[in-house]
Amino acid sequence: VATVSRIDVLDKGFVALVDVMGNDRTPAKVARTSFNNNNQLRTEEQDAKLVRYLVEHKHTTPLEFCQVRFYFKAPIFVARQIMRHRTASINEVSYRYVEAKEEFYVPRSWRMVKKATDNKQGSSDEQVQFPEAAAYLVLKAGREAVAAYCELLDHGVAPEIARTVLPLGLYTEWEWCCDLHNTIHFLKLRLDKHAQWETRQYAEAMLQLLLPVFPNIIEASGLTNGD
Ligand SMILES: Cc1cc2nc3c(=O)[nH]c(=O)nc-3n(C[C@H](O)[C@H](O)[C@H](O)COP(=O)(O)OP(=O)(O)OC[C@H]3O[C@@H](n4cnc5c(N)ncnc54)[C@H](O)[C@@H]3O)c2cc1C
Repeated sequence: VATVSRIDVLDKGFVALVDVMGNDRTPAKVARTSFNNNNQLRTEEQDAKLVRYLVEHKHTTPLEFCQVRFYFKAPIFVARQIMRHRTASINEVSYRYVEAKEEFYVPRSWRMVKKATDNKQGSSDEQVQFPEAAAYLVLKAGREAVAAYCELLDHGVAPEIARTVLPLGLYTEWEWCCDLHNTIHFLKLRLDKHAQWETRQYAEAMLQLLLPVFPNIIEASGLTNGD
């Protein structure tokens, strides 16, 4: 993949910013269509001020004129969460065509923590009694699952059926394209502390990749100040 930049995430994953349409000033130029004067030259400061106004007053359509394209490599359970965001266009590797590799997520022992008590879905900071042993169990189960997968392939079973035994932690890869407005919406939801830690790492990497390209829009959206 020809990438602009990429950040490694988790033990074997990454996210790469592959392509961008528009820049930090595009929404301001688009918004001026309302006054039929979008070809007039404006200063960077004037554009920045207008973008802040647009974001503050939720005039978000001009932000949709910027598009971002990412390439992800992430565990399937992270992919499932990211793919819930319907406004993105996605194309994923198919384990009907391609044989899966022995690449699955093994959480570090510090992630072997108990269920959260203050919300129903998350995890707490309290480690289980034997975190190393718990992490080893993930590794062992993943290896056994991949071994069973390979054995099924050896028996001549088609990859689309053999993959049945593969774990949720297996890495998958996909292209992701979305307009900037909905990307910011995505980031707000997936950077939040209620989002799963593993998925948050991808959202954080996306934010870092987008910051140099859209510094003013991202700041105006409140993504850099924990809003
Ligand atoms: C912390 C967290 C926990 C979650 N837990 C669960 C869970 O337990 N189970 C589960 O199934 N999901 C869960 N989700 C997924 C969640 O319900 C949303 O599906 C997901 O966050 C996508 O959000 P979205 O619809 O706003 O984004 P997008 O799908 O990108 O849509 C962006 C916006 O476009 C509009 N839109 C898109 N499609 C439609 C439509 N068909 N009709 C009307 N408006 C539309 C809406 O305004 C929407 O906000 C969770 C999400 C988060 C962040």
